[in-house]
Amino acid sequence: MQTAEIRRRWLDFFADRGHTVVPSASLVSDDPTLLFTVAGMVPFIPYLTGLVPAPYPRATSVQKCIRTLDIEEVGKTPRHGTFFQMNGNFSFGDYFKDQAIEYAWELLTNSEQDGGYGFSPDDLWVTIYEEDDDAFRFWKKTAGLPDERIQRLGMDTNYWSTGLPGPAGPCSEIFFDRGPAYGADGGPATDDDRYVEIWNLVFMQYLRGEGRSKNDFEILGELPRKNIDTGMGLERVAFLKQGVENMYEIDQVRPVLDRAAELSGRRYGADHDDDVRMRVVADHVRSSLMLMADGVTPSNEGRGYILRRLLRRSVRAMRLLGVDAATFPELFPASRDAMKAAYPEVEADYARIGRLAYGEEETFLKTLESGTSILDVAVEKVRKSGSRQLEGDVAFQLHDTFGFPIDLTVEMAEEAGLSVDRSAFDTLMAEQRNRAKADARAKKTLLADLSVYSDFRAKGETVFTGYEFLETDSTVL
Ligand code: ATP
Ligand code: MG
Ligand code: MG
Ligand code: MG
Repeated sequence: MQTAEIRRRWLDFFADRGHTVVPSASLVSDDPTLLFTVAGMVPFIPYLTGLVPAPYPRATSVQKCIRTLDIEEVGKTPRHGTFFQMNGNFSFGDYFKDQAIEYAWELLTNSEQDGGYGFSPDDLWVTIYEEDDDAFRFWKKTAGLPDERIQRLGMDTNYWSTGLPGPAGPCSEIFFDRGPAYGADGGPATDDDRYVEIWNLVFMQYLRGEGRSKNDFEILGELPRKNIDTGMGLERVAFLKQGVENMYEIDQVRPVLDRAAELSGRRYGADHDDDVRMRVVADHVRSSLMLMADGVTPSNEGRGYILRRLLRRSVRAMRLLGVDAATFPELFPASRDAMKAAYPEVEADYARIGRLAYGEEETFLKTLESGTSILDVAVEKVRKSGSRQLEGDVAFQLHDTFGFPIDLTVEMAEEAGLSVDRSAFDTLMAEQRNRAKADARAKKTLLADLSVYSDFRAKGETVFTGYEFLETDSTVL
C-alpha cells in the first residue's frame, strides 16, 4: 500500500465519520515559541486549550512535522525521521475515549477491501496509563484483546500534560509486533524495536494544577469539555504495510537512498555503517526539501541553522560514503520526484529550492577544504611535538569558524592516527553555550518589557510555552 493510499484512506475514514478535513499547516509554526510544527496537534493548540472556540467539533489532518529531537536516532532505529507526517483525528469537547479507541481499532483492522489498513488483530498490542481502568475496559470491549496485550505503564510514557496548569490526561498507544526475528517477547514495555509504536491516543480529561516536577502534580478535577488528540505515524504504517524494514525504504524516501548508493558505488545492505549513512542522507535531503518548500533558508540561527545542519550532515554522510564531489543536484531531484504527488509545491518551487540547496553544498565543500588544510597543519604540529592528541581548541575553532561537526574532526584526526581532546572541546563548547544563554536572557528581558503593552500576547505565551516537547525540541542539533 503506497503512502498516498494510506493517507487517502485515513482522510476518507474520518471524513465519513463527521470530521472536517483540515489541510496541513506549514512546518514553520505560527507559534513564536516553537521552531517547527512537531505534532499534528500543534495547529489546534488554541482549540485544545480552550483559548479559542473550535470552529468544528471534530477534525482530521495529515500534518507535516519536523522533530530535531530525534536526529540522533535517524537511520539507526527503523522509525525516526527528522521529517515525517502525522495523521491525526481530533475531538473538541465532542466524542471521547471509547469512540477514539473504536475508530482507531476499526481503521487499523478493517480489511483492505473495506477501506481499512488490514492489520491482523494478533499483531497489535496496546499500552495504557496504569490507572486508566476505563481505557482497559474499552480496549477489552472494542478489540477483545487478551489482558496481557494491554500493558499498563506509568506517567513518563503514558501521561500527557503541558508541564503547566491546564489540560492533562492519560494516553494509550498502539504497537505493531514485527515478530520474534526482531527481539524477545514481552510487549512494547520491553522492546521498542520489535514492537513499533504506530499510534498515540491522548485523552485530555483532567485539569492539572501546579506541579513539583514533570510527573508530580495535582489533579484539580475533570475537564468540563474533554478533548481527543491522536497521532499516527504515516511513514511507520507505510513501512509496515510495504513489507520493508524501515521508514527510509518506503516509496516516498527510498529513491533518494538508492541514488546515494549509486553515487557512492556502494551497495545498500552490504555494510551496517554505510546503510546508516544512506538512510541519514535520504532522511535529511527530504527534510531539507520540505523545509525549503515552506520558506526556510539556510542561515546561522534559528530555523535556518537547523536546515543548514541537516544539509551539512547530508554532505558529511556522502563524504563518509566516499564521495567528495557535489551530490545535491542528483539527490534533491530524486526527493522532489518522490514527494511531488503529495506536495506539488516542491516541484512548482524547485528552481528556487535547488538553487539554494546546491549553493549551500558548494559553499560547505569549500569550507571543508579550508578546514581540512587547517586540520592538516595542526596534525603536523601535534605529530612533531610527539603527542598523539589534537588539542580541544583546534577542534573548537574548526567547529566555530568552519562549521565542522565534532565527529568530523574526530574522524579526520583518527585517519591521521590522532585522538581529540574531547573534554577540552566540551568545556569550550559549554562556555560558548553559556555566553549564548546570557545573550538570550538579555534579549528575553527586553521582550518581557515590551509584552507589557500586549496583554493578549502575554496570555498566549503563558499557555503555550509549557509544552515539554516544545522546549526540548527547540534545542539545536
Ligand atoms: P517514539 O516513542 O517511537 O519515539 P513518540 O512516542 O515520540 O514515538 P508521539 O509523540 O506519540 O511519538 O507521536 C505520535 C506518533 O507519531 C507516533 O506514534 C509515531 O507513529 C509518529 N512519530 C513520532 N515521532 C516520529 C518520527 N521521528 N518519525 C516518524 N514518525 C514519528
Ligand atoms: Mg519519540
Ligand atoms: Mg513513544
Ligand atoms: Mg508516543
